[in-house]
Amino acid sequence: MAAERLRRIVLAARPQGLPRQEDFRLEEQSVPAVEDGGVLLRVRYLSLDPYMRGRMDDRKSYAPPVALGAVMPAESVAEVIDSRHPDYATGDLVVARTGWCSHAMLPGAGLRKLTRTSVPVSTALGVLGMPGFTAYAGMRVIGQPKAGETVVVAAATGPVGSLVGQLARAAGARAVGIAGGAEKCACALREFSFDAALDHRQPDLPQRLAAACPDGVDVYFENVGGAVWQAVLPLLNRFARVPVCGLIAQYNSIEPDTGRNSLAATMRAILTRGLTVRGFINYDFSEHYADFLREVGAGVAAGRIRYREDIVEGLERAPQAFIGMLTGRNFGKLLVRVTADA
Ligand code: NDP
Repeated sequence: MAAERLRRIVLAARPQGLPRQEDFRLEEQSVPAVEDGGVLLRVRYLSLDPYMRGRMDDRKSYAPPVALGAVMPAESVAEVIDSRHPDYATGDLVVARTGWCSHAMLPGAGLRKLTRTSVPVSTALGVLGMPGFTAYAGMRVIGQPKAGETVVVAAATGPVGSLVGQLARAAGARAVGIAGGAEKCACALREFSFDAALDHRQPDLPQRLAAACPDGVDVYFENVGGAVWQAVLPLLNRFARVPVCGLIAQYNSIEPDTGRNSLAATMRAILTRGLTVRGFINYDFSEHYADFLREVGAGVAAGRIRYREDIVEGLERAPQAFIGMLTGRNFGKLLVRVTADA
């Protein structure tokens, strides 16, 4: 049998606007030997997430940019295939920051070992991983939905938005989802129990949103920015909370931000309506991680919390899948199956 080769996808060029296939390069090399204190991993599932778009730009942010020629960053579910670390044995499954690769040699410290349960291991990258925790922490710390309130979230069938909606409902609030296309809206109602779902690709979003929120909006979980934010802003009630989680509508923007659109209106709303607008990165709230795993883990295991995955086959398809996610072509948590389950 031919020896396994390490395949990896590196950043070949910095994108101007929406990334293109040529901004990525697939490389191949031999699989490294495991070093003392390290583990050698074979990736099963690779997580593709919107934040990776920000890392492709050479500008100051909460995390440093990816260097040209360096491997694209990502978290994976991977199998230990060799170990020189006392806590890990061959066959263990872990969540690790491998990057877009088929194999990785990493220090044993900083990995999360997965216990085998009835729930598929891929969920450790979605509903029971970073995106799920983002929804949980943003709602628990900032959103704080109460019975009878109205919660609005966009990207409503993705891993963050779909859990935001379910947590809103669990708190007794009314959940209004916004998604791209009729099929995603139907899924938001059927699978994730949103009370209403609106297609942001259809005209008159502001009017349709106002009709779907007759009592205004108490929590707007901001996932996208842009036109959706413009539609929500006039509807925010006094003392509404806005966890600012993501601005995917702006990630590919190459226009300078002139502030022309709504800065004055936004500031006036914050002042006169006593809004709480707070940005966060999930790890700001890591003290809630154990509660998240226990509560959402139990909900998923019992089938009370639903999730949806969009699994693409083969590492070489990662760039196209990632580009598609930035324009809404994914339908659920976007994952790449790099090697088949044992
Ligand atoms: P999704 O799997 O939901 O994928 C992104 C979705 O965004 C697309 O499917 C599309 O859904 C929607 N979208 C893309 N462009 C636009 C647009 N112009 N207007 C409206 N919607 C658009 O992503 P995630 O659930 O992983 O992430 C959701 C948001 O949360 C992102 O902004 C992400 O950056 C952020 N995030 C923040 C974290 C943090 O720690 N702060 C951590 C994790 C995620 P549709 O077709 O339905 O419009």
